[in-house]
Amino acid sequence: MSNTKMVEAYVCNHCGDIFKTKEEAYACFKECEEDLNVKKTFVKLQNEKNELRLKATSFNHFAKLLEEFARKNRREIEVEFCNLRYEKYISNTHDCPIGGQTNWRKEKDKPTSYPGYIGKVVFKKNKEEGSWYASDAFEIESGALWSSDVPGLNTGCGGGGEFIVRLYIDDFPKIKEKVDSISNLTSAKIEAIQKENKKKEELKNIIEDAIDKDLEIINCNKEIMELEDQLSKLNEKKVKLSNMVANKIMAKNKHLVPNDEIVDRFADEISAKETEIINGENEEVE
Ligand SMILES: [Zn+2]
Repeated sequence: MSNTKMVEAYVCNHCGDIFKTKEEAYACFKECEEDLNVKKTFVKLQNEKNELRLKATSFNHFAKLLEEFARKNRREIEVEFCNLRYEKYISNTHDCPIGGQTNWRKEKDKPTSYPGYIGKVVFKKNKEEGSWYASDAFEIESGALWSSDVPGLNTGCGGGGEFIVRLYIDDFPKIKEKVDSISNLTSAKIEAIQKENKKKEELKNIIEDAIDKDLEIINCNKEIMELEDQLSKLNEKKVKLSNMVANKIMAKNKHLVPNDEIVDRFADEISAKETEIINGENEEVE
């Protein structure tokens, strides 16, 4: 007697399940196909949502893309990021960049922070309806599949449509490019300033040397002026002494007749004699 026998069976081409009848296999195939379509639709929507962060060239732009996405799902919403500031170390206790690691236990072998922007996000729908939660605005559904996450948009505590938001820079490649170019520009600027400062320092040294030389000249000039001053005082003293000596000599020789008087006296005698000679001859001729 044989251990095996041949039977007729039908296989679902999607999941590989085996059925006795063709109808049962076909029913499974239809069900599997529908499940697959549901999954495909969901993945497509997820990808579309993931594209938003990849397309964003700024956080304002990201807000606009979020609004467009919500509108496509027939949800009117306004998204606004407020008071965003860059932080080099955003704590990854509850969320992290896509592909990163959260670390609320602060384990040493895992990262404890990532760079990014932190601030507030405001979700507003029209006044009658009040504020949206992010989960309401960006949810996607396909069959039993449902997701409200927006890749890259990490909301924290809040309420009334306002939430703390963490936007890790690694999740926004186009914005990251800008941040990197700014930090490159900043370091280039710092380098240029340092170079400029070095030049200034060198120039300052040159000027200080020149000032030292000028001071030397000024000091020499001062010395010259002092010497000239001394010289003129000595000259004054010399003149005074000379005058004093001359006066003393004159006082001593007071009894002597000055030469001029002697000359005058002789001149008078000579001219008298000459007159006598002239007049006397004239008298003899007459
Ligand atoms: Zn199947």
